[in-house]
Amino acid sequence: KVRVRFAPSPTGPLHIGGVRTALYNYLFAKKHGGDFVLRIEDTDQNRYVDGAEDYIIESLNWCGIPYDEGPGKEKGFGPYRQSERKDKYREYAEKLIESGNAYYAFDTADELDAHRKDHEEKGKTFIYNWHNREKLKNSLSLSQEEVQKKIEAEEPYVIRFKSPQDEILHLKDVIRGDMEIDTNILDDKVLFKSDGMPTYHLANIVDDHLMEITHVIRGEEWLPSLALHYMLYRAFGWDAPQFAHLPLIMKPQGKGKLSKRDGDKMGFPVFPLEWKDPKSGDISAGYREDGYFPEAVVNMLAFLGWNPGTEEEFFSLEELTNSFELERVHKGGAKFDPEKTKWFQQHYMQEADDNQLADKFDEILKEKEVSAERNYVKDVVALIKERAVFVEDLWEQGSFFFIAPTSFDPKDSKKAWKDGTAELMSELKEYLTTVDNFQAEPLQEAVKSWIKSKEVGFGKVMMPLRIALVGALQGPDLYKIAEFIGKEETLNRIQKAVD
Ligand code: GLU
Repeated sequence: KVRVRFAPSPTGPLHIGGVRTALYNYLFAKKHGGDFVLRIEDTDQNRYVDGAEDYIIESLNWCGIPYDEGPGKEKGFGPYRQSERKDKYREYAEKLIESGNAYYAFDTADELDAHRKDHEEKGKTFIYNWHNREKLKNSLSLSQEEVQKKIEAEEPYVIRFKSPQDEILHLKDVIRGDMEIDTNILDDKVLFKSDGMPTYHLANIVDDHLMEITHVIRGEEWLPSLALHYMLYRAFGWDAPQFAHLPLIMKPQGKGKLSKRDGDKMGFPVFPLEWKDPKSGDISAGYREDGYFPEAVVNMLAFLGWNPGTEEEFFSLEELTNSFELERVHKGGAKFDPEKTKWFQQHYMQEADDNQLADKFDEILKEKEVSAERNYVKDVVALIKERAVFVEDLWEQGSFFFIAPTSFDPKDSKKAWKDGTAELMSELKEYLTTVDNFQAEPLQEAVKSWIKSKEVGFGKVMMPLRIALVGALQGPDLYKIAEFIGKEETLNRIQKAVD
């Protein structure tokens, strides 16, 4: 059975790149009837940020890609926070020592720094591996007694992986194909730290194995760790899962990785939800709070590094699930395009159910202290949503359906309001008092024939009438507007404009 995991570290808000990783994992799991596991990789206590885990979970829920298994959803493979699995890791590190695949190292941070400096002066880079480990302070260079003594004296130590010498590793990646790595360039990575915590590498491999993960789908930044992970599986005698490394998400200009600063500079969020930093109190914008629908964000993210091979661009989560294939994920970096996200949003705004939009619009109306009947709100929404990208826009596009214009756009008024307009509008108002049917169509007939009888151009009447009802030369069909606001309000607004 397919089992995939999303394994974020709770070090801050989830970047949209992380959301994409979660999404691809979700799609792959659902496509194959598998499980989508959430594992919180919180072994680095220094980088732990309060609220980050809740933020991650809320983000997944908002996107509509909840995990099947994870914190709060125990399915027998838990606990799902690495900090709660602490005790397991030492045992596995020690197994590797016993099998000769790992060793204790006692070098202090200062000593390692000195080695680094020393190498630098000679124009070389210091790598802790086969090449010099014999000369350093570890259980491969020291006698057993010495090692025993140090451990008994509680000298701090780490456990390092013993990288093999003179071997070419053959690595496979579903997206990138086959790769070869010369083990001589690899360093002996720390697996277990002196603070009694595992490093990412050890905890990650042990947990993927214990949680029976079949496919590891993660960001390209982990590709350099793949060789070590392969060697760890081998050293434990375990089958490795299949790996798929997703391309980086690049700046809109295309060069370099997308960062929060790009978003700040260009005015788009890089986080799914708004985030308030618990230390500084700084607020970072989120797609949800900026008015995007999750469908739009999900559709946009799905196409950031993948395409279905057809021209079709609008995909619901279900359609994505059916079409998604890891083999179709691109190798090259995916350029982020904030305009494209808006374009998806506009589409889903049009697709959205009028009742649901009315629910959301109602909240804005409440804020504006406007009360209106539910059906009326819904009919307005249906009429004006084509001009809106966000629910928020509905107010800008249609406030005049609820309140008389409080001001008249000066430029538009100048264009519409000429000598003699006031008289003409007064006459129109007189005439309209005699018109009983304010349904758009009959009203249009009536007004049209009135204009004809007056022998003036249509614009001379329609433009100032629009100014009177809307406040500017914009908005949907004017007769519809009159129908919506009704006879009394229409007459009032004309009167107000004439005054
Ligand atoms: N904890 C790692 C991260 O924060 C997980 C990487 C992986 O998926 O192996 O991205």
